[in-house]
Amino acid sequence: MNVDQALEILKKEGYKYTGKREEMIRIFANQKRYMSAKELLDLMKDEYPNLSFDTIYRNLSLFSDLNILEETELSGERKYRFQCSDDHHHHHLICLGCGKTKHLRACPLDGMLGAPEDFTITGHKFEIYGYCSSCEAQ
Ligand SMILES: [Zn+2]
Ligand SMILES: [Zn+2]
Ligand SMILES: [Zn+2]
Repeated sequence: MNVDQALEILKKEGYKYTGKREEMIRIFANQKRYMSAKELLDLMKDEYPNLSFDTIYRNLSLFSDLNILEETELSGERKYRFQCSDDHHHHHLICLGCGKTKHLRACPLDGMLGAPEDFTITGHKFEIYGYCSSCEAQ
């Protein structure tokens, strides 16, 4: 996902283009890490002093529904990052300190025995949590 693709999705789905929405998308594109609504608000409040949590939350869940963002829960808090543009199936190692991710090419499902009986798998989630080297050094 990049900024242009994200804006194109909004346009195609008939959502109004606003400076605020574009700014949110640009922040996620630049940060390349998981962020909470509060972190996003902190990064935007200088430019948009009247921005409310409500607006942030509504847009975050819209972007997530449109697959512009992916979301997960880290330490009991909902966090969002730009949808990965890597088409190859992979999983993420997620830093609980800064929200940055690394790719894990191996899939644990590959090591499981065959396909389950009477069940069609359509997807799965697998995330590994920890600390990146720069967060661990602190
Ligand atoms: Zn990824
Ligand atoms: Zn980190
Ligand atoms: Zn997998």
